[in-house]
This record gives sequence, structure tokens and C-alpha cells, in this order.
Amino acid sequence: MYIPYGRQSIDEDDIQAVVDVLRSDYLTTGPKVSEFEEKVAGYVGAKYAVAVSNGTAALHIACLAAGIGQGDEVITTPITFAASSNCVLYCGGTPVFADIDADTYNISPEEIERKITDKTKAIIPVHYTGQPCDMDTIIEIARKHNLLVIEDAAHALGASYKEKRIGSISDMTCFSFHPVKPITTGEGGMVVTNDEELYKKLVLFRSHGITRDGGMMTENQGNWYYQQLELGYNYRITDISCALGISQMNKLDGFLVKRREIANRYDKAFKDVADIKIPKQIADGNSGWHLYMIQVMNKSRKEVFDQLRTVGIGVNVHYIPVYQHPYYQNHGYSACCLPNAESFYERAISLPIHPALTVEQQQYVIDKVLEFVEE
Ligand SMILES: *Cc1c(COP(=O)(O)O)cnc(C)c1O
Repeated sequence: MYIPYGRQSIDEDDIQAVVDVLRSDYLTTGPKVSEFEEKVAGYVGAKYAVAVSNGTAALHIACLAAGIGQGDEVITTPITFAASSNCVLYCGGTPVFADIDADTYNISPEEIERKITDKTKAIIPVHYTGQPCDMDTIIEIARKHNLLVIEDAAHALGASYKEKRIGSISDMTCFSFHPVKPITTGEGGMVVTNDEELYKKLVLFRSHGITRDGGMMTENQGNWYYQQLELGYNYRITDISCALGISQMNKLDGFLVKRREIANRYDKAFKDVADIKIPKQIADGNSGWHLYMIQVMNKSRKEVFDQLRTVGIGVNVHYIPVYQHPYYQNHGYSACCLPNAESFYERAISLPIHPALTVEQQQYVIDKVLEFVEE
């Protein structure tokens, strides 16, 4: 038996939706792409959506649309997947890491403010584990300093903050549809926005910077004509993926119910255990529970982690502080040291959480965690 920390949930409707596209006229750039975009935009409460080939591409084109370039600083958290800051490097900009809150593990607004300089252009808050960041405070800081906010919501499709869904709040919000994420398209991602100008740029950057829109071209020589206006990429997503995404969106609310039930059971099992710290939830947020993190406070994290792996439990560690990776150490971050991020990293274990995890499997995980932590 092996219990993974995360896994896709695919059923016969999902499979049929993909098969139907394979029999249709369009495998890419067809009707399923815009249908998927409209479905996600409608669900999260955004005006515009641009579906792309993965979540990292979503972050990259969001940074490009934001105009991030050489000399610009962008503030993000170190407790995230490397893509949250790599997207800034792709544009020639400089990621600046701000420490996390010691209890929610999300980026701390006070620490963001301390890192702002004349060069700061944007903030990339990450809704880590699916729990929304303190968005009112972050947006207030951004307004005060004239910064753009690009949310990395790879964990947070379906999460909400003060009754607003994540995706309706800031300048741009990026989602990932990798198999472990809230819904999957195999590989896939999306940027949503309420700003028409940003939307037009995102569409350009998704596909080579090329347009056929007469209103955007400098001239029009005929019906064959198109122009490349920007240096864009091929970050398009297929209709095959989007058909799967549309079908998965129909199940998202059910997936979220399952994830919340699992998180509640972990909370209940561990809240009075002295050696385990459970993740604090803010009153203003409703997490999507992409991950459930515990901290092992006294026993060796490595020992508990290895014991859990040995008995077939697919625990993980999310994440190694990004600036500790050799690439970052070799590119100017060797002096970076954020105490809350590092102390969290040293104690963190990510427990299995996904919609198909059964009560029996979860009870096995709980029993083993208690056994190894307390022995
Ligand atoms: C998964 C993830 C990404 C990247 O998404 P991909 O679709 O894998 O490219 C970015 N940020 C965070 C926080 C993620 O978890």
C-alpha cells in the first residue's frame, strides 16, 4: 500500500469529455479553450481568463503583462514552489523574498512593506496550501506604493477571502492544473484578470506576440495578414486538456468538500498533541486545502518523515525556501536568511490530502503520525 500526498480524481465523465474532443475538428485553439476560460472566469468572478500550457507559463505571461524587466524588483515568499520567483527571473527582474507569518505560513504583509524599495514593481503573494493571504492589507500596501499584485493561486482555486473567490480580487491571478492541484488538465494553467488592457497583453504573450486583430495591427494588407507585436511564446493549451478541465470544474465544489473534511479530521486528531503544530487559519479566509502541513516541534522531522515513508505514507516537504536552492545561492541570494521560513522548513511535513483519500487511509496516516511523534 502507498498513500500519495496528492492525486488527481478522474472519472468516466472526464474520460468521455476527452474522447469527444479527439473525435472533433479541433485539438487545439478550438472551442473548448474559450469554454474552459469562461467557466473558470465565471466561477471565480473575473471578467477575463487566458488558459495556457501550465501554471508556470501563467506566472510568466502575468509578469510580462505587468511589464517586469531588468532592474525591477518583485516581492514574493520563499515558502513556495520555485516557479513563483523564477517567473520574475525569466523577465530579467529580481525576486525579493519577504518572510512568512509563523502561524499561517503565508507571506507577512509587514515583511513585504519592509522589502519595498524604489525599484519594487509588483508583489506575488502565494496562497500557500490554499489558504488566502491577508489580501486587504497586501492590496492597501500595493496601492500606497503603486505596485501591481499578481496572485500565485496554484493551490487556491475555489478558496475565498471575505466572501470573494480567489481570482476576483487583484490585478492578475494565476492557477495551475497540474494533477495534484485542485482540478487538473494534465498540464495546464490560467491567468484571470478584470483589466482589459492586461487581458489583451496576456493573449499576445500566450501565442508568439502575434495578432490578427485589425484594431491592434499597424496596417492590414489583406485577409492573410497578421503581425507580431511583442516577443511572445507558444504557451497555448490544447482542447483535449480544456475538455478535461471543463469536466473537472463540474466536480470542484465536491472536491473542496472532501478536502475540508480531511483537514478537519487532521485538525481534530492533532490539535491537542504537544509535539505537533497544526496550520492556523485566518477568520477572513476559506482555504481550498491543497496541502495539510504539520510541524514536528521536538522530535526530529527527518526521523518522523523517514518512518512515515517506510510504512507507505507519501509524505512530502513543501517547500525548501526557494533562496536555498543552489541556483539562487549562486545568483546573489547566499546572504538571504528569513528566520520564520527556515524554522518552518526544518519542521514541516506535508500529509496526504486529496479527494479520493478514504477515511480508513486517513486514520492509518493519523495513527502512524501519532505513533512516530510520540514514541
Ligand atoms: C504547481 C505550482 C506552480 C506551477 O504550476 P505548474 O502548472 O506546475 O507549472 C506555481 N506555483 C505554485 C505555488 C505551485 O504549487
